[in-house]
Amino acid sequence: MPQDKSTTATAAKPKESAAPAAASTAAAGTSPASLSSGPAAAGADAGGEKVITIKGPVVVKDLAGNLGLKPFQLIHHLMELNIFATLTQVLDEESAKKVCTKLGYSFQTEKRDRAAHPPTPPTPKKDKPKKVEEVIDTSLVPRAPVVTFMGHVDHGKTSLLDAIRKTRVAAGEAGGITQHIGAYRVKRGEQSITFIDTPGHAAFTEMRSRGAKVTDIVVLVVASDDGLMPQTLEAISHSRAAKVPIIVAVNKIDLPAANPMRVKGQLQEQGLVPEEYGGDTIVVEVSATKGTGIDALLDMILLQSEVLELKARVKGEAKARVIEAQTEVGRGPTATVLVTEGTLKVGDMALCGPFSGRVKALVDDLGKNVKEATPSVPVKVIGLDGVPSPGEELLTMANDRQAKQMAEERAASLRAKKIESSPKVTLETLFATIADGQKKVLNLIIKGDVQGSLEALVGQLRKIESKKVDLEIVHTAVGPISESDILLAKASQAVVIGFNTKTDNAAANAAKREGIQIKLFSIIYELIDQIKEAMAGLLDPELRESQIGTAIVKKVFDLSKYPVAGCSVQSGRVTRNARARIVRRKQPIYDGGVQTLKRFQDDVAEVRSGMECGIRLGDFTEYEEGDIIEFYTLEKVAQSL
Ligand code: GDP
Repeated sequence: MPQDKSTTATAAKPKESAAPAAASTAAAGTSPASLSSGPAAAGADAGGEKVITIKGPVVVKDLAGNLGLKPFQLIHHLMELNIFATLTQVLDEESAKKVCTKLGYSFQTEKRDRAAHPPTPPTPKKDKPKKVEEVIDTSLVPRAPVVTFMGHVDHGKTSLLDAIRKTRVAAGEAGGITQHIGAYRVKRGEQSITFIDTPGHAAFTEMRSRGAKVTDIVVLVVASDDGLMPQTLEAISHSRAAKVPIIVAVNKIDLPAANPMRVKGQLQEQGLVPEEYGGDTIVVEVSATKGTGIDALLDMILLQSEVLELKARVKGEAKARVIEAQTEVGRGPTATVLVTEGTLKVGDMALCGPFSGRVKALVDDLGKNVKEATPSVPVKVIGLDGVPSPGEELLTMANDRQAKQMAEERAASLRAKKIESSPKVTLETLFATIADGQKKVLNLIIKGDVQGSLEALVGQLRKIESKKVDLEIVHTAVGPISESDILLAKASQAVVIGFNTKTDNAAANAAKREGIQIKLFSIIYELIDQIKEAMAGLLDPELRESQIGTAIVKKVFDLSKYPVAGCSVQSGRVTRNARARIVRRKQPIYDGGVQTLKRFQDDVAEVRSGMECGIRLGDFTEYEEGDIIEFYTLEKVAQSL
């Protein structure tokens, strides 16, 4: 979690009944008289920087409007500055300035003519005690590391998590029976470690794609008899993309076939150089079944966490991330959260994604009811009015009405978001989607048919030189494009490239849902050219590609090794020498040359609209009825870097 930069901000937290005027008086000593009533305006100053000019009290709702934000979005930004404000609250000038600066604006108040409107000093009421502003202690306190296990299937992630869980029973620590709530804690002396119970990178990256960086340390589990496998490499890419440090647990060292030295050599090849080879990767040899090395692993996790200097604010309103959520009989929706800041308490009003509710109970990982949870502590929250998604942020709010209203606004904006599912980053819009002033980076995930062609491809891509854009290859692997690739692309704002490979159905669906661009190629120079053009901001699909016709698959004939798609030409014409791609539910599945184009038994060069034909593309075998085959030609356009 990024730490709050502000450690001095005070927070005005009026009770629900507090009138805006009372809140403004309380806020950081700024007299409301220094701000006059009236509308606000956004303009540009001489330097071209946008200026928000507010006349009168700076009410959160109005300021949001002037910034073009929904009130809950502004409240969220304020929270990130440790300023807890309600919808109708009047902000002090300093807070307004801070949040405007955060959003790239400068802020000024328009002062009224003092003679015409003499300032009225706030009159303290004698009979009613003055509402005292609650000053939140923003000091940062060390917190426990949060650890996720990753690695190839069957390498022993679950067994290791179980072995570690057992250590606390052995230490006599468990006062209850361990509950599977999605995460658990282990104490080591004065310190503790939080383990996320769902191993694997799918959950990890799903969370990250929602902006949640919950994990501080990844333990990469590698079976010592098996070595680094495809999912191990994927896990390394996922951790690196998230910039989370990796500790390696070389597992199953009890087996006769165990070969930890080989694993260390393989790790070195991947740039994870073990400490004993002079690198900085911590490698611990363990056996989950025998319990060997578990203590050493825990010590190493604590050592790594000391280096990371993990700290969080403990006092005040809580922020937390959902680890898992479900509906439970008798309890209604429950969500296991990991507190990231502040203290989550029973009775708090909580807002979580489009849901809200009062926290009725908090249950810890031993099944015990607890009153509160501090940073890095996992608890199950009972009381939300719906089941949030993993990775969603939970915030506590001062009052119910506000939480409800924000939840509704969020639900509405989620609905609006769903409607527009256009890709976020595409090769064609690389320049448009990256804001001016930011360093432009093109993130790629590349899947290919064989290791050799992947290496050749990456080698060529790395040779592209561009002053305008940095090329970052987030992950490369052999095999079809999978759902996990799409998640990684979403979390890393990447485009997915397939070279001589296809897209899984699940990946195609996920790409559509998440707005991720998949580009399929079967010729290396075309791929390189397109990336070059994208990096030069010159990629214009209209110029490059002209569609000549489309066909729909009506029936699949399993004639021989290669099935043939029985098609009907829908538009234009399809030709033997054109290029073609298969599109399923609007996502490209395969791209390749035309192998066969037949009318009845005869090979033909061309089939026109309205006619039927048999089509086979490259070595593709998985046609489905309803697939669309798009035929196109490519034209070269001038390019420069
Ligand atoms: P996961 O898929 O990575 O979660 O792997 P599991 O924890 O399910 O383990 C897969 C298999 O490896 C199971 O049959 C375990 O019993 C076995 N296994 C796990 N750790 C060890 C170990 O340290 N030694 C041996 N011999 N077997 C292990």
